[in-house]
Amino acid sequence: MKKFFRQPFWAVLPIFMLFLGGCGQGKVQEIGRVDTAMGTVVQQTVYVTEMGKQTEDILSLILELEEETLSWRLETSELFQVNAYAGSGRWVELSEELSRILEQCAKLTEDSGGAFDVALGPVARLWNIDSWAAGLHTESFQVPGKQELEEALAQSGMEQLRLEFLPGEECADVYLEEGAALDLGAVGKGLALDVISRYLEADAHVTGAVVSVGGSVLTYGEKPDGTSWRVGIANPNNSSVNLGILTLTGQWYISTSGDYERYVESGGVRYHHILDPATGYPADSGLSSVTVLAENGLLSDGLSTACFVLGRERGMALAQQYGAEALFVEKDGEIFMTPGMEALFQPVE
Ligand code: FAD
Ligand code: MG
Repeated sequence: MKKFFRQPFWAVLPIFMLFLGGCGQGKVQEIGRVDTAMGTVVQQTVYVTEMGKQTEDILSLILELEEETLSWRLETSELFQVNAYAGSGRWVELSEELSRILEQCAKLTEDSGGAFDVALGPVARLWNIDSWAAGLHTESFQVPGKQELEEALAQSGMEQLRLEFLPGEECADVYLEEGAALDLGAVGKGLALDVISRYLEADAHVTGAVVSVGGSVLTYGEKPDGTSWRVGIANPNNSSVNLGILTLTGQWYISTSGDYERYVESGGVRYHHILDPATGYPADSGLSSVTVLAENGLLSDGLSTACFVLGRERGMALAQQYGAEALFVEKDGEIFMTPGMEALFQPVE
């Protein structure tokens, strides 16, 4: 049994970096910071004309989103409270934010033919995915039995959930069947990018930023020296090196889902964390990773998960339906891209 950690050792400590006026434009300053949140590494580089608490605020926003809204593990979150009502026979009124998130996730479930499904909580808990990265219980990892999986699958899926908006209302009511559980792990980091971009837009002192929350990256504004943002796409067969670079200007949301990011190996088989709702097992669609560029973080993150489950052909069609760009790396290393992605991607020789 092996266990794998995504976080480099230095990620446990916040690292602060400050480069005053070092970027070719007298007044622009660069602030950098590395932390952990949402079970992953958060890296920020923010360019400002006036130093404030920007990077500190951004970290607080991510932690707040996790603790107050998205976490399926922390009792403080709205999602945890909603899950606790499963099987109670009661409807729960959601916040405007969670209503909007679940509405968009339900649409993505429908558009992906069920390949993306945030009501997969019972199956994700059975595989005990969170503990793989934290290094807990990995020694005792066992592949779930067929019957256990069937039971968890029977309690999973968007059909276990009813979401209703009253006419003219921004807040929906939700109803969960017995045993159902929502898990927003597939969109949480993208949602963090959406919150961060709203924060950056509201601060006139911010001229540019690049923020990564695990496998999701936001580029915003511009670099002081006028050069483009360069975002590396990891080689799934050796994630410490890049397969290629995306050269981007302005605001983009980029997410990657891969089988190399979070997994355990048992009996010589690799079990990764992107599950096929049709089987309850890790998705086996011939892909090693999918990178998606979309108009917001929820979509880049959600689509990268959905496309991974769907495989290249159906994933390509789904990405294009959403006007997103996508890059697929197949298990044999072959790369396929949407035409728009080809213009942005340069392979590393
Ligand atoms: P993605 O492809 O974006 O998502 C995969 C995750 O989505 C899976 O881990 C599972 O949770 C879920 N999922 C799997 N298959 C599907 C599917 N077909 N459709 C929809 N969803 C699916 N990790 C920890 O170790 N400890 C923590 O405390 C912790 N807290 C977190 C809190 C928040 C708010 C979030 C968003 C994540 C947290 N994580 C934590 C990480 C989490 O467990 C997942 O591993 C992570 O979200 C996976 O993201 P990804 O980008 O690698 O993969
Ligand atoms: Mg995702």
